[in-house]
Amino acid sequence: ARRTALQAASGPGRTKDGHPVALLVNIGTAQDAISAGPMDVEGVGLFRTEVLFLGKQSAPTVEEQTQIYRSVFAAFGTRRVVVRTLDAGADKPLAFADLGEEENPALGRRGLRMGQAIPDLLDHQLEALGAAAQGTSAEVKVMAPMVATVDEAQWFAERVRAHGLPSAGVMIEIPAAALRSRDVLDVVDFGSLGTNDLAQYTMAADRMQGALSDLLDPWQPAVLDVIDAACVGARAHGKPMGVCGESGGDPLMALVLAGLGVTSLSMAPGKVDLVRYALSLHDLATCERLAAVARAARTAGDGRAAVLREVDPAL
Ligand code: PEP
Ligand code: MG
Repeated sequence: ARRTALQAASGPGRTKDGHPVALLVNIGTAQDAISAGPMDVEGVGLFRTEVLFLGKQSAPTVEEQTQIYRSVFAAFGTRRVVVRTLDAGADKPLAFADLGEEENPALGRRGLRMGQAIPDLLDHQLEALGAAAQGTSAEVKVMAPMVATVDEAQWFAERVRAHGLPSAGVMIEIPAAALRSRDVLDVVDFGSLGTNDLAQYTMAADRMQGALSDLLDPWQPAVLDVIDAACVGARAHGKPMGVCGESGGDPLMALVLAGLGVTSLSMAPGKVDLVRYALSLHDLATCERLAAVARAARTAGDGRAAVLREVDPAL
């Protein structure tokens, strides 16, 4: 019966009482876009564009980039496509954007910091995105990775708008930006929680170290508190705050995130059906209660177990 219900659930992401939580996919290439395009999703919540740049000896030209972005937008018709500008750094090195070796790449000149160090790289990307957005019916949004401050958010938003792109956002994946999201969201159009990095920086635990996975668990109550702070700040302006980290693809966590107030969940394509189904079974008030239960726990394990018991007392 559960399988049938899962297959029957379709259409936009909604809680049982109809509260919208958009369901989106994460992609990295034009090929990903072509395979995800026919899916029953509301668009792309994270296009990791660095995938286009990695392993190349020289930066793709504006024309080459424009063509790729065009084909990605075309695959999604009139739906939204959130493009993240280049998120490279010493851990994802680019031959044509070498800022030297760093002892702590996760804390170094990566993401938007690289864009600020080499503005041409970012400007060429925005030029290509602006050109591709011209002839498309997709709703194109552009966001920056690794934003920590209002000044950075403002710097980015001005550049995005100067290229004729109407919607500028930031990833919220550094605790500083999450804690001050009211100020950060004031200067951009939307935020998107990168819970992978947000957990890494909240817990001071390198996400590349498998041995630290317990600390990197998004059920850590401190991580949920930081996510909550980010949502409260966004709500103050009535601006959207999505999630595009892996946590959004866990159906149980998706309920908690909806309860914390996130407006969209972007995930690996294979996760969407189960998350849609989980949302359809619970109303918003229940999700809010689950979020409170998760945050009241003292450990990640306790939080997850308590939420699971609330959802199904037989467990
Ligand atoms: C994140 O940090 O959660 C995220 C979505 O971005 P990436 O995994 O590409 O760093
Ligand atoms: Mg990230």
